[in-house]
Amino acid sequence: MAVADILATNPWLLYSSVFVLGLVVGSFLNVVILRYPGMLRYEWERDYAEFKDLKFDQPKPPGLVIARSHCLACNNKLKAWHNIPLFSFFLLRGKCGFCGNSISWRYPLIELLTAVLSLFLALHFGWGWPLLASLVLLFFLMAITWIDLDTFLIPDQLSLLLLWIGLFVALLDVFVSVDEAVTGVIVGYLSLWSLFWVFKLVTGKEGMGYGDFKLLAAGGAWLGAKPLIVVLVLASVTGLIVTLFGFAIGKKDNKIPFGPYLSAGIFLSLLWGQPLLQWYLD
Ligand SMILES: [Zn+2]
Repeated sequence: MAVADILATNPWLLYSSVFVLGLVVGSFLNVVILRYPGMLRYEWERDYAEFKDLKFDQPKPPGLVIARSHCLACNNKLKAWHNIPLFSFFLLRGKCGFCGNSISWRYPLIELLTAVLSLFLALHFGWGWPLLASLVLLFFLMAITWIDLDTFLIPDQLSLLLLWIGLFVALLDVFVSVDEAVTGVIVGYLSLWSLFWVFKLVTGKEGMGYGDFKLLAAGGAWLGAKPLIVVLVLASVTGLIVTLFGFAIGKKDNKIPFGPYLSAGIFLSLLWGQPLLQWYLD
């Protein structure tokens, strides 16, 4: 019996394997979120130096796969068992095994969140292409969300790759047809792009970035055009609530990343786009 048949006929085996997969990928996403922005910055500065004919001698930052993780405080390379997702954090009681410095709660949070949301997708879709495709979408949205929170940037390398994958998934007719996906990409990009320019011409300020347009375009490739209304409403409402909450507790920072809210909206629309759209239009 092939693995696919076993997973299709044993729901509990499917749920537990997807949960463990979520933990492992979540652990890898922590590395991506931590290192990828630095790798991009290195490339930009190298390209800039080359363009300007400047001397460039910065050390190359560690890559995503080859270099072992190390403690950010004492620089010691982690032992293999320190890298077990979620569990090592609790076994080490949230502290580095060498120097005792506390490890950010973000690492286990991202691992657990990825695992729980993956499990959720398995419960929602069961075994099949929609599950496999939606897991890929989830992993990309997780990386985009946290990188945007950290740096206020959504790397093209992630949003555009997500867009191409979305179009490919549409070719296989998993969620929407190719027609719907292409319309979704165009509507997704142009809706935020025109909003951006209207806002800029009226107020003279820039409310969003081009990264947001590309992310919504990618969302359109996965969902088609109509559910993007739901994505935008969900993203704006949650974004507004979080901002107001921020003001209420005295946070004066007026720069908010929009990517996390768009990501949440895309994820929710993939699961409940139709009922949410119906509810909104009624
Ligand atoms: Zn340490």
